[in-house]
Amino acid sequence: MSLGINSIDQSKPPSIEEIGRKIFGDSVKDILKWAIKREKPDKYNAIPKGKVANVFVVIEALSRLIIRHEQDTEDVTVVSTYTGDVVPAILNTKFQSGAVRRQMLAMLHGWFDRKGKDFIGELEKLGFKGNTYTCVVRPYMRQEREERVPEQVEGFCGQCPSCLIFGYAVQEAASYNVKSRVEGDIYVSPILAEKAVIRVTFNAVDDITKTTIMPGEGGARTGALYIYKMIEVGTSFVGKLAIRDMTFAEIMLTLLAIARTTRIGGRVTHFGEIKVHIPAILFSSYEIGSGYEIVNIMLGKSRGEVLRIEDVINNVAEYAEQFKKQGILILDRSLGDKLRGLTEEEVDTIILEAWKDALIYKQSLNMFVKPNK
Ligand SMILES: [Zn+2]
Repeated sequence: MSLGINSIDQSKPPSIEEIGRKIFGDSVKDILKWAIKREKPDKYNAIPKGKVANVFVVIEALSRLIIRHEQDTEDVTVVSTYTGDVVPAILNTKFQSGAVRRQMLAMLHGWFDRKGKDFIGELEKLGFKGNTYTCVVRPYMRQEREERVPEQVEGFCGQCPSCLIFGYAVQEAASYNVKSRVEGDIYVSPILAEKAVIRVTFNAVDDITKTTIMPGEGGARTGALYIYKMIEVGTSFVGKLAIRDMTFAEIMLTLLAIARTTRIGGRVTHFGEIKVHIPAILFSSYEIGSGYEIVNIMLGKSRGEVLRIEDVINNVAEYAEQFKKQGILILDRSLGDKLRGLTEEEVDTIILEAWKDALIYKQSLNMFVKPNK
């Protein structure tokens, strides 16, 4: 009996609504109604619609983290709170551009390698050009003396969900830049820096001499030891992402990339493993809430004592609940696990739908920017 049922299931790929039901339960109906519909290219699609999915996240460190921010001389970025405490923080550039976007790209490349040839015709009809997919996040190249290196914006393809969701910059004057429709927050820890930040000393072993003395720049000898400040394992960070004007498939793809982000920061071969919890999402008409605010409330209660992850998640849920009359509020601490638990087939459906939606968005932007063509 069950064999028969399975074979029926396998013949038809799951619809995006069925997949959404696994994540959101019955609320999927309301969310589908709420989400942007973008059936065909139309310049009206380019205009902001005031649809904001407020996604509350808790980032849990599963190993020690090295989160070093550009322009920052310290290894660990800290912020002060209203309560007068100093706590570690992660800036959104590290999480969104450095980790979540890369995760989405990895998912898109995996899909294109396996499924691209089956769907390239469908994508081409919506404006996809070429039959390869080479979109990458290319780090800023080190500048050689006076030479200007223009490559910092090269790499983005401008025709995939990652580009149309997280934005991209172009160099040709004839074209236009696309702004990110994901807006981040600062991810703030409710644990005091003095408890969450540790100093770790490493031996620097020279590969050639097998000693711990290495020749430094200009003939000077550098120290054989070096010290890193790191975030201790178990530390949590609270933040919120605003996802704007997206179709249901784009929302699902973005949430998947957030939930499936597993590394952050520097030296990820040894450090940086994380788990992203999504305890609450508020589908609303405006942006609501901030991680900094939540952490201030928590510090007022906990006095910066080390909290269990459950306590942090409870506090985020409690905070989000006050906004339940201002949209569709999904309170479910297993959202992240449910997203991580989707099958490859289900993820494939989400990616294909999001890709089509992204291409329609791009065509709509073209119509808006160049109305005579
Ligand atoms: Zn791209």
